[in-house]
Amino acid sequence: MANETKFCEFCGNEVHIDAVMCPKCGRQLEELKTDKGSNPQVVINNNNQINGAAAIGRRECDKWIAFLLCFFLGLLGGHKFYEGKVGLGILYIFTVGLFGIGWFIDLIVILCRPNPYFV
Ligand SMILES: [Zn+2]
Repeated sequence: MANETKFCEFCGNEVHIDAVMCPKCGRQLEELKTDKGSNPQVVINNNNQINGAAAIGRRECDKWIAFLLCFFLGLLGGHKFYEGKVGLGILYIFTVGLFGIGWFIDLIVILCRPNPYFV
């Protein structure tokens, strides 16, 4: 239908259903469509969940999964494999968590990270 309307949540003005900005008070009503911008979103084919622009092309990791993996399997690089850092994981296996130093630092680093974090 062409005459569908909604109401501005800020001033109550009646606006068209597709309006992204209220003509009366000038406030934004909807998130701007990313596919209409001058910088189109690049679709990256991976299995990771895309969660906002910051996560594009990056791996989303759960802080507590990483922490538990690091705590119990960190000397074998468990958290490195979880983060997709296979090379570092193998290095951890052969050096026993960089002689325990890398493991200990990683424990603290993971604790300081937001949840989820991106690598
Ligand atoms: Zn308004």
